[in-house]
Amino acid sequence: MRRIVVVGASAAGLAAAETLRREGYDGTLTLVGDEPLAPYDRPPLSKQVLSAEWEPARLALRTPDDLAGLGLDLRLGVAATGLRLADSAVELADGSTVPYDGLVVATGVRPRRLPGEGGHVLRTLDDAVRLRDRLTPGRRLVVVGAGFLGAEAAAVAWRLGCEVTLLEPAPVPLAHAVGAEVGEMLTRAHLERGVNLRCGVTVTEVTGDGVRLADGELIEADEVLVAAGSLPNTDWLDGSGLAVGDGVVCDQYCEAARNVYAAGDVARWHNPLFGQSMRIEHRTNAAEQGMAAARNLLAEPEARKPFAPVPYFWSDQYDMKIQAYGYLRGHDEVAVVEGDLAEGRFVAAYRTGDRLTGALAVGMPPKAIRQWRQAIAKGAGWDEAVASRSPAAAVPGAVGTAGA
Ligand SMILES: Cc1cc2nc3c(=O)[nH]c(=O)nc-3n(C[C@H](O)[C@H](O)[C@H](O)COP(=O)(O)OP(=O)(O)OC[C@H]3O[C@@H](n4cnc5c(N)ncnc54)[C@H](O)[C@@H]3O)c2cc1C
Repeated sequence: MRRIVVVGASAAGLAAAETLRREGYDGTLTLVGDEPLAPYDRPPLSKQVLSAEWEPARLALRTPDDLAGLGLDLRLGVAATGLRLADSAVELADGSTVPYDGLVVATGVRPRRLPGEGGHVLRTLDDAVRLRDRLTPGRRLVVVGAGFLGAEAAAVAWRLGCEVTLLEPAPVPLAHAVGAEVGEMLTRAHLERGVNLRCGVTVTEVTGDGVRLADGELIEADEVLVAAGSLPNTDWLDGSGLAVGDGVVCDQYCEAARNVYAAGDVARWHNPLFGQSMRIEHRTNAAEQGMAAARNLLAEPEARKPFAPVPYFWSDQYDMKIQAYGYLRGHDEVAVVEGDLAEGRFVAAYRTGDRLTGALAVGMPPKAIRQWRQAIAKGAGWDEAVASRSPAAAVPGAVGTAGA
């Protein structure tokens, strides 16, 4: 293999490029990114950048010297516009065509938008800086969507002295992801601080004055942040013949077509540890999958390894550190296995079928959750995992079944 192209110059694409070099690949390595900036980290955008604790320069994932050391054919500020699978070539917005022997697709996701004019989204450094500059004390911010991103932004804006309204279409924020009871507990943090949380409301439009709800009500705001989910960046693959369905569809090796791999937020792959297809929008997964895709691209077919991680996610809201391992979506039962939900310090375990598939901790030391990660990685049965706990925790305080 003498020509490899990586499309998407962020966490997953950079990890893939570095791994290719580390594994000894010394051919042409083209890294294409539509943002003008060198790869930077996104999680601080809704935390330290929005709160102005960090200068944007701190987000760079590598120094210019480290990047130069990779010997890249670096094409920043130019989008890939098409893939010609039959010719093994990527078309770029500047009119050029880049042929490849191997390709890694790492184009991530973009925010879902709502009809209407104005309103912020939060995906890029520009987005974060623009919103940061508007979050002055007393300003009215409406956040549409109380998922992790919306909740983090609401927490920062509250701390900055803004008047925050958080709007959520579901009856309980995050219930589909973490279960209704844990969702309710996380929600308390907003209510205790006087954030105006309204659930079960659908925003139909962002107007110049705020947002319009489905029942016609106008909620006035100085700034609106739309944090209503995201869409995989796969438009450029339309007509390429690559299977796309809520992400680039890959097998367990992260391969989408011969010598074409995908990694990070854009990749939907079969995770054999959970026996199901998943697409994960987590920072750690992006790097790990970029590495795995790169290794498999270089390996002989029989030497390839399935990508079978226990996904990991964290979120910082107010003084809460939330950490989760595993795949919580679609769970059948949630049980508090350590600590106390009411006190806001706990580990909740998630059951899907007869297996332990996830664990979420709030306010607990990392080691409290790490052992649960190991149990998930082992494919532990629910009974086995719970019975191995101390007698006090052997009968979990079941907090319910998944509502959604
Ligand atoms: C505000 C914010 C906070 C977050 N907080 C957390 C957190 O606390 N914990 C956590 O685990 N995760 C968090 N995440 C998620 C995490 O940042 C992502 O999972 C990670 O960035 C995914 O990396 P990626 O390389 O797959 O995709 P991305 O980071 O989306 O990068 C894809 C890159 O490809 C570019 N691109 C797209 N289309 C094209 C094209 N056609 N041609 C060329 N380039 C293209 C994009 O512009 C982008 O630069 C957060 C994300 C955001 C936005």
